[in-house]
Amino acid sequence: MNTPERTLPRHPPMDQFRVSDGELLVGGLKLSRLAARVGQTPFYAYDRRLLDQRVAELRAALPPSLKVHYAMKANPMPAVVGHMAKRVDGIDVASAGELKVALDAGADPREISFAGPGKSRRELQQAVAAGILINIESFREVAELVAIGDATGLGARVAVRVNPDFELKSSGMKMGGGAKQFGVDAERVPELLTEIGRAGLTFEGFHLFAGSQNLKPEAIVDAQSKSFELACRLAAAAPSPVRFLNLGGGFGIPYFPGENRLDLTAIGANLARIVSDAADLMPAAEVVIELGRYLVGEAGIYVARVVDCKVSRGHTFLVTDGGLHHHLSASGNFGQVIRKNYPVAIGNRMATGETQTVSVVGPLCTPLDLLADRMELATAQIGDLVVVFQSGAYGFTASPQAFLGHPACVEVLV
Ligand SMILES: *Cc1c(COP(=O)(O)O)cnc(C)c1O
Repeated sequence: MNTPERTLPRHPPMDQFRVSDGELLVGGLKLSRLAARVGQTPFYAYDRRLLDQRVAELRAALPPSLKVHYAMKANPMPAVVGHMAKRVDGIDVASAGELKVALDAGADPREISFAGPGKSRRELQQAVAAGILINIESFREVAELVAIGDATGLGARVAVRVNPDFELKSSGMKMGGGAKQFGVDAERVPELLTEIGRAGLTFEGFHLFAGSQNLKPEAIVDAQSKSFELACRLAAAAPSPVRFLNLGGGFGIPYFPGENRLDLTAIGANLARIVSDAADLMPAAEVVIELGRYLVGEAGIYVARVVDCKVSRGHTFLVTDGGLHHHLSASGNFGQVIRKNYPVAIGNRMATGETQTVSVVGPLCTPLDLLADRMELATAQIGDLVVVFQSGAYGFTASPQAFLGHPACVEVLV
């Protein structure tokens, strides 16, 4: 394999894919060949080797007895879930729709857990019938599970999702601490535990999830330590020993210039300490972390074709057949406060010396349909393939595909 020198500045996130003869290699295939195989643009492609590499790096950094779950909302493509289910210790689902995909993929129901703030009676009944662990997020859910038990004779396995009394510092999206729709406030958990005991539900443990997209190891260490301490305190009020302790995750990936990959050293050491303390304090408990973005985000790319190249008052626009309707996150409209460019490249011109500063836009009639704003890219022509990196998580299913009625995007696992 020849890897030509890179004349363009490559953001750190872009270096996980190899290059051959000036073309990006995805799943071992040159990008133009892959595009021909897929038969259309735009498409998402996820690289199996990179998924496996990420799981291996993670396992090497974490204590061996720690369980790793995949939070499949990050990428619920059935083939990806099937691939991950064989490599992780469990799957976290956030709806009955995701539960179906996880079960179809062959995930063991004993190792599936279900979180979400608005679980309906029907979803809860499906979860009970499947025999998965339900992370309870309100007093109403306890009442629903009792009614389901009365109607069906089936018992529910439950854990309590706790809204902690602290926040995940420096997190991209906070999901715990303060007033939140997620989980039950820590101070009301003892009361909920009493109700769970009285209702005769099978109590298995606690779930804490403080936030997402964090690149600061010290903030993750801090949140995991505090989560563990809180769970130890709450365990005193539990109707039975804790068998499952999910400490969340929130591990981020780099997207923008100046961001670097998360260093797992301190996180791994802290989790080793927690696992060993848990062996004394909650001997029946398995300690779990749940990760979405970190497991799949870097393994995926989004590919669109240049359909026009327009110059407007001196500024060049590459107009592609893909855009925010397939990739809302890259357009900056999925949780970004200040829009920044995702890493982008011309995937069939990775070795070119000639560059131009351009904006990459999509075909939608809205100025929000922007994939790259004034970026230096290899000089491109109509027919070239624009690649958006770091697209394996919160891409395809987190985008408004029906907006403007353009053709559907496809996904491939290679
Ligand atoms: C979204 C979510 C995750 C996954 O978050 P990532 O940042 O993708 O790792 C994990 N757990 C829960 C409860 C979630 O809602």
